[in-house]
Amino acid sequence: MSTFLEFSGVRKRFGDTVALGGFDLALADGELVSLLGPSGCGKTTALRVAAGFEQPDGGRVVLAGTDVTDLPPHRRDMGMVFQQYSLFPHLTARDNVAFGLRVRGMGREERARRASEALERVRLRGLEDRYAHQLSGGQQQRVALARALAISPKVLLLDEPLSALDAAVREELRDEIRRVQREAGVATIFVTHDQGEAIAISDRICVMREGRIEQVGAPRDVYLSPASPFVARFVGSTYEWTAPDGRRLLVRPEDVTVCAPDAEGALRAKVVATLFGGATSVVRVALADGSQLGAVVLSRDARATVGEAVGVRIDTTRAVVRDDRA
Ligand code: ATP
Repeated sequence: MSTFLEFSGVRKRFGDTVALGGFDLALADGELVSLLGPSGCGKTTALRVAAGFEQPDGGRVVLAGTDVTDLPPHRRDMGMVFQQYSLFPHLTARDNVAFGLRVRGMGREERARRASEALERVRLRGLEDRYAHQLSGGQQQRVALARALAISPKVLLLDEPLSALDAAVREELRDEIRRVQREAGVATIFVTHDQGEAIAISDRICVMREGRIEQVGAPRDVYLSPASPFVARFVGSTYEWTAPDGRRLLVRPEDVTVCAPDAEGALRAKVVATLFGGATSVVRVALADGSQLGAVVLSRDARATVGEAVGVRIDTTRAVVRDDRA
């Protein structure tokens, strides 16, 4: 991988709080990397350091071979989209997009042409003359995305751009961001605390905890081979189970199968609930020791009734050994 944007040893404190305690991350050009982690783990700080809104206490940020650590935001060629719609209310969609181009000294006609192109790219043709209050939340974020892309940035920085939207619009815009980002071929950092979103949109996910990186990898690798119990818990769901040999494990629901109560080698359990999730459901069972496990089943095959005695088989080959820190 040839590195396009690199954080090395970036540290940032706010008083006693260590927001970033030695942050090392390299992105390839055109790559989308999500920063994923619980509230307060330093995601936004990392993004703001990249943008130049926050000066790190130590470490460097290098963009396309140039050390940009001490450059002001407007000299970094980065486009940003924030969580809250940040459009100018007194400007139309087109003028919002054109604004950043004017600041860069582009002529009036060229600005209008580029703004219309950018709006077309995010599928807002016909809405160019609307003001922010005449656009839905999803449409406003599309304008914000068009505005960020219109300046042909070297890097796109997206700070929880979907979190203010409702579920259906969220998913649609998520896919749209990915499409547009791929078409533009622009290296992108996407901040989110939603693991499903990170899995769906990323080339790689960077899982953070308390200002440090726990794991960086393709969504598939992070999910299937979590580097720590924290990652296993944070990306995907897990259940705690103590194996007969005393090993304390985190088990994923797709590694648990429900079978007949007297099936050979099965553990005896009782159905506690069935959680419907569309194509699949999770059958929650309680074991004799009181612990609970979930088992994924196709919803159309889910026949378990609450209180029913069943057997469960647990495939522990992918289970992660639990620790008491997380
Ligand atoms: P969230 O998902 O809640 O936005 P985050 O992972 O983006 O969280 P940051 O916003 O980067 O986390 O914050 C990291 C830590 O630094 C937090 O403990 C936060 O309270 C603290 N922090 C961030 N900015 C400031 C600031 N300007 N002044 C003081 N503390 C700050």
